[in-house]
Amino acid sequence: MKIVEMRVTPIAIADPPLLNVAGLHAPYALRNVIELVSEDGIVGAAEAHGGERLRSALEEAKADVIGRSAWDLARLAEVIEQRFTAAPREALRVSGAIEVAALDLVGKAIGVPVAELLGGRVRDEVPFSAYLFYKLAGGGGEGDDQREDRYGEALDPAGMVRQAQAFIADYGFESIKLKGGVFPPDQEIAAIRALHEALGPGTPLRIDPNGGWTTETSIRVGRDLNGILEYLEDPTNTMAGMSATRGALLADGNAMPLATNMVVTAFDHIHEAVLTDAVQVILADHHYWGGLRAITQLGRLAQTHGIGLSMHSNSHLGLSLLAMVHVAAATPHLTYASDTHYPWQDASDEIIEGGRVPIVDGKIAVPTCPGLGANLDQDALARGRERYDRCPYRERDDRTPMRERVDPNWEFKLARW
Ligand SMILES: [Mg+2]
Repeated sequence: MKIVEMRVTPIAIADPPLLNVAGLHAPYALRNVIELVSEDGIVGAAEAHGGERLRSALEEAKADVIGRSAWDLARLAEVIEQRFTAAPREALRVSGAIEVAALDLVGKAIGVPVAELLGGRVRDEVPFSAYLFYKLAGGGGEGDDQREDRYGEALDPAGMVRQAQAFIADYGFESIKLKGGVFPPDQEIAAIRALHEALGPGTPLRIDPNGGWTTETSIRVGRDLNGILEYLEDPTNTMAGMSATRGALLADGNAMPLATNMVVTAFDHIHEAVLTDAVQVILADHHYWGGLRAITQLGRLAQTHGIGLSMHSNSHLGLSLLAMVHVAAATPHLTYASDTHYPWQDASDEIIEGGRVPIVDGKIAVPTCPGLGANLDQDALARGRERYDRCPYRERDDRTPMRERVDPNWEFKLARW
């Protein structure tokens, strides 16, 4: 199954003004879309992070891809690692994206879904969590391309409860995550308490300030929200800080798990995390762990060490969502509802045929058709490319919009509180 062509298409998709510890989302999020074409004319596709740096790395990797069999994934990962020896993390982003497109291509060629290529499904639907954000007014996009603001402004506990209820009404989510690190911790604790009150004790809640708190603050919040949070995600941004937080909470008899997609982001972080008990849940992400097979391997390793597994997300469209669904179906240990930014993206920006992937009762059905279960809509892809060419953004930058819309003197700082 020889690959004869590889296309890399940068696109821009409207993104609402969502706040986080790094600032404010710009009016557009960026993605790179990879297409691999076989000698029989079958196309496999995948989404990768956006930006020119990754785009040029993907372009460079074409030399390793074209002429290779789409089955030859272990060797491909090796040669890409050798090509990018100075940037091993970049190598994983490149080989991971190409792997997903290759699995889509192989699956389409032999009539098998990606979940089956990964070893077969242990579940037929995959749960996702509502991903709440403090948010300014606006639906994303710029100029003539501004989008409807479905969820409105949300800057206080009442706004966050409204946002949660709207997400539940639209998608039926049963787990809730709040992106924190935006306001002083007591305000965010109040938002979690308001969600707990409004949604009841049966709704799992999480908060993720992206390392925005000191160890001392992390311990304080962990004590305050004991019994309310399902897990506390990246309260502080170092392995030592996570370990110290865990130790202090355990000394109180508080076993609330600490989750991360910041201090454990690669296989070589796991050993220290286990030795220091810094992390009890890993949020996997095939986009930077090295692809879908890497996540199934991570699942086994996490299980071995008694660490839970969930999934991290960035702004994305349906191809990335479907890749997450297939790998979650094929990873028995992936039992937590996963993150997704998908509801924040506008339906008109979707690039797969047939439009948006449905989320019903907070879950996505694992496709039973070949590959990832979707074909690229070439017209929609071309519109995404036009938006990219029109907009000024070339790498993710949350600081500039934060300065423009909120505070001209705003500075990024970890830990802020
Ligand atoms: Mg996170």
